[in-house]
Amino acid sequence: MGGGLVGATLDTLRLTAEEAMGLLERGEVSRAELRAAYYDAVAARDAELHCYLRLTEDAEGEGVPIALKDVIGTEGVETTAGSRILEGYVPVFDSTVAARCKEAGLSLLGKTNTDEFAMGSSTENSAFGPSRNPWDPTRVPGGSGGGSAAAVAGGLAPWALGSDTGGSIKQPASLCGIVGLRPTYGTVSRYGIVAFASSLDQVGPTTKTVRDCALLYGVIAGRDPCDSTTVDVPPVEVPDAEHLKGLRIGVPRELNEADGIERGVADSVARAIELAEGLGASVEQCSLPRSVEYGLACYYIIAPAEASSNLARYDGVRYGPREAGGSFDEMVERTRDAGFGDEPKRRIMLGAYALSTGYYEAYYGQAQRVRRVIAEEHAALFERYDVLLSPTSPTVAFLIGEKAANPLAMYLSDVLTIPANMAGLPGLSIPCGLSEGLPVGLQLVGPQFSENLLFRTGHALERALGFDYVPERLR
Ligand code: GLN
Repeated sequence: MGGGLVGATLDTLRLTAEEAMGLLERGEVSRAELRAAYYDAVAARDAELHCYLRLTEDAEGEGVPIALKDVIGTEGVETTAGSRILEGYVPVFDSTVAARCKEAGLSLLGKTNTDEFAMGSSTENSAFGPSRNPWDPTRVPGGSGGGSAAAVAGGLAPWALGSDTGGSIKQPASLCGIVGLRPTYGTVSRYGIVAFASSLDQVGPTTKTVRDCALLYGVIAGRDPCDSTTVDVPPVEVPDAEHLKGLRIGVPRELNEADGIERGVADSVARAIELAEGLGASVEQCSLPRSVEYGLACYYIIAPAEASSNLARYDGVRYGPREAGGSFDEMVERTRDAGFGDEPKRRIMLGAYALSTGYYEAYYGQAQRVRRVIAEEHAALFERYDVLLSPTSPTVAFLIGEKAANPLAMYLSDVLTIPANMAGLPGLSIPCGLSEGLPVGLQLVGPQFSENLLFRTGHALERALGFDYVPERLR
């Protein structure tokens, strides 16, 4: 790490946001030069990687540039959530997170690609075509926030924001070899974010280092009067300690030995566990039997149910393009048929079914009770352990097209990230090695509001692991 200035040119592949901040503060580089360096990288690589849906070359802000996932509402800048049904929608206000980035001086580079309405694990559900993985462009960058992750890993942005409902920050970070934080539910405002599943959606940072992650979390976190589910958070600490003395790590068996975890993934995580012990942590096996067995099924009741309600607003009247003609009902039907892709349609049908009279209790009500069990199972473990450790994704980046035709195979990408999300817990993914030349991600989960602890743990491990986040083919 370190460096970033190569002669007069900036090496955006290596430069961290923190280093970029230092260059700006010391006057070693101007705001315009910094932005130009990222746009040069966009010009060089975005035709292949397709990280961005649109660029904002005239954006203001004197600080470090940033990219925002296109579910994040931005005043005066089209916000589509990767869907045709929102094409041409230009918000008249900033989401709270976009406003906080602006207040901190961050300047917007552009809006990044996402699966339609953040539904997916590969960006292949984007109405505007998939993004590609900077480590191997024949492979997906993960999703739904694959555009943000590929932009950071490919040097097309110093850092970015994503959103995570079931794993959409952590899983793409894992597949792209960078850091991603899904914060504790309620610590980051959802005001002005295109809603998917409101009881799960949470915005968070996608960065090269854990320190960058803490810095960006510090910009966006905290109570917002416009979102009544938010709370004040403890002051954010940028980590610097390099040991884990006294830390008690639990290794849930079901999250580490689940069917479908690739051998190379398990091996990388095992090596990271040995390193953690070497840094002074105590490591013990533990168990989350019901969370892993029922988490995914429970998520695929709750998330589609909430989505079917949230997506009812796209009717051709209030947002985006309209398929005119016929009666009002026919207009709405035609608009929704043309505007939504297959995945949102699938979720609307699943969700509307789960919420229908006579089934509500059997599905949504029951899933809420299971969710409570998952939260309690995690809470019991946190009486004995400070953090829980597992792989983030069972696999490394898969090939474009490999899972696109099989929704169930795609859903399984999040089997290890969903349990913590259902419990409202924060999770940090950091790269921990390579398998078949592709990055492997390690997930650290802590109790609610334990972001500072996750940053300390992640930073110490990151230092010890010495993972090089610049994709091998671009070095
Ligand atoms: N892949 C999961 C889904 O399709 C999670 C997506 C997300 O976190 N937004 O729902």
